[in-house]
Amino acid sequence: MRTVGEIYKEIDRIAPFCTQEKWDNSGLLVGDRTMPADRIYISLDISNESIEAAKAAGAQLMVSHHPVIFSPLKRLGPSDPVWQLAAANIAAICVHTPLDIAEGGINTRLYDMLREALSLGEIIGSADGRGFGWIAESGCGFEAEELAVVLKDILGCSVVRYCKGNRTIRKIALCGGSSSTFLEDVIAEGCDAFITGDIKHDRWYTARNAGIALFDCGHYHTECMAQEIFAEKLREAFPDAEIICETQGDPVSYVWGGAGR
Ligand SMILES: [Zn+2]
Repeated sequence: MRTVGEIYKEIDRIAPFCTQEKWDNSGLLVGDRTMPADRIYISLDISNESIEAAKAAGAQLMVSHHPVIFSPLKRLGPSDPVWQLAAANIAAICVHTPLDIAEGGINTRLYDMLREALSLGEIIGSADGRGFGWIAESGCGFEAEELAVVLKDILGCSVVRYCKGNRTIRKIALCGGSSSTFLEDVIAEGCDAFITGDIKHDRWYTARNAGIALFDCGHYHTECMAQEIFAEKLREAFPDAEIICETQGDPVSYVWGGAGR
């Protein structure tokens, strides 16, 4: 029998839990290391929907990117995912910021996905100066609209929101997820564009005032590759384990078109 502890140890090797941010809650969040883990269900988030799918597949462990316990847990009821997991005797390992920053993690994967289409050179820095995301120069110049179309196609987004900068885009910064707090760092690095997700209203003005192009490809579409990363690494390390990697898809629906107002 394979245990949750063995899977935890392997994930800790891929994306060391000690590299998590101070505010994060990464690790074995539900269950303990002695529980069985021969059947593992991988998801971006642990929701009631993904738990139902894990239960149907007979999974004993869920591995997710986002932590199932993040904000202070002040109350626990039967409709909460944590309750659902415990009731089904399913453990949960949640990785989060260690996978964002890991070599071979989410941002590395995004670089590999975009490298050819954007003619990117080597990585020359990180979006926040501490290791999150990357900065690279493109061998060809892009207008913001052109870049938005490339991002939409490669990342499979339903929609890409963007604002134009005041120059052709050559030096590009990217950090998946919700990383627009790094915008000032990226501006200070002299980047022409910053690609991330979850961009709030004020950030668009900060970008426009600085003349930098800003792209919101959505939180989901800049992180959903976490599932493939976990699946590949765990299948490699545990070839005889049953690894189930299904996507629940973007939880958000969109409607767009017309001129708006
Ligand atoms: Zn995220």
